[in-house]
Amino acid sequence: MSEPDARVIQLVMSLRGQGVNDRHVLAAIERTPRQLFVPERFVDHAYDNRPLPIDCGQTISQPLIVGLMTQLLEIDDRCKVLEIGTGSGYQAAILSRLARRVYTIERYRTLAKEAEARFTALRLTNITPRIGDGTKGWPEQAPFDRIIVTAGAPVRPDTLLEQLKPDGIAVVPVDNDRGTQTLVRYRHESDDGLQGEPLMDVRFVPLVEGEAKAL
Ligand code: SAH
Repeated sequence: MSEPDARVIQLVMSLRGQGVNDRHVLAAIERTPRQLFVPERFVDHAYDNRPLPIDCGQTISQPLIVGLMTQLLEIDDRCKVLEIGTGSGYQAAILSRLARRVYTIERYRTLAKEAEARFTALRLTNITPRIGDGTKGWPEQAPFDRIIVTAGAPVRPDTLLEQLKPDGIAVVPVDNDRGTQTLVRYRHESDDGLQGEPLMDVRFVPLVEGEAKAL
């Protein structure tokens, strides 16, 4: 691997100042060239701490949100992770550096294909991408140790949460009544069943049910 871009180091330092303090997560961000995940016209902004537009009217998430959500998942190298909303593939690439295996679903074929090409180029061989409706999860591969949804769910996504292992963790943006989403972390609390812990306000593109037409 070549030396990380100076801009990545700066980004990592700024994320650390904003609450991303897990060194494994920071190292994963440092090793992942975000400029390969953004459209050509935005490469100069690849290391700005902000979301950027990608194809199909979607967005690559803000690095701070990627860092915080990844940290909240407490991933180790035994984890089998499911991501809903591959988008550019950036979040999946970060996950792949920490987990044993990453399964990621995207409803737009164009995005899924572009992301897959990036995984191949970066030799991220432990990511399995798929085109389809992520709201149904991936029953053939369930259960998962961790689940991350990177699109705003209208309500608590029970179909997905049923695919979580008993000691698993899920992180999901769920629509609130302020027109944004509340990031919720779900885990099983002994006898009380699956508990949702509301953490912070976030803003994601919507999680849309069903297959995408065209694109
Ligand atoms: N994780 C992405 C950010 C994705 S933006 C990244 O790192 O770049 C959210 C993505 O979720 C969009 O690409 C959108 O098309 C996708 N999406 C929305 N609803 C979906 C669904 N039901 N199934 C799969 N993907 C979905």
